[in-house]
Amino acid sequence: MKCPACFNELSELHVSKFRVDVCQGGCGGIWFDAFELQRVDEEKEAVGERLLEIQRDERIIVDTTRKRECPRCAGVKLMRHFSSPKRQVEIDECPNCAGYWLDAGELGRIRQEKTQMAVEASRKPTKPTLAPETIRYLYRVQAQNRKTP
Ligand SMILES: [Zn+2]
Ligand SMILES: [Zn+2]
Repeated sequence: MKCPACFNELSELHVSKFRVDVCQGGCGGIWFDAFELQRVDEEKEAVGERLLEIQRDERIIVDTTRKRECPRCAGVKLMRHFSSPKRQVEIDECPNCAGYWLDAGELGRIRQEKTQMAVEASRKPTKPTLAPETIRYLYRVQAQNRKTP
């Protein structure tokens, strides 16, 4: 398979029970087949850490504005979209095989974004709480309702 970003030959990388295709010594991008990205993410740190250390040639600068072709499906163009509602990282997805292309550094940024979102979610109160004055008001309304025949 050829790298969709710099046309280097992709090499297979086995990490734990996953097999991904990486542009080792090229642009440092990673190809995930359908659902592999989610599964790698569920596997916690160890798997991701290794994927964050792919050797790349610093002289290769990829053109992220160019339409890329899916390395698996001949003639199918990858679609660029944001990886989450926070809209910080753009990833390329194949509309045909549902695989993903991540440029060097994007996996790290997706992870950072996830941690950020988890922290933000944990800050939000889980149950809506009523202010004491609201509770007092509701008691008064109830009491009045009972008095009226
Ligand atoms: Zn490449
Ligand atoms: Zn494809």
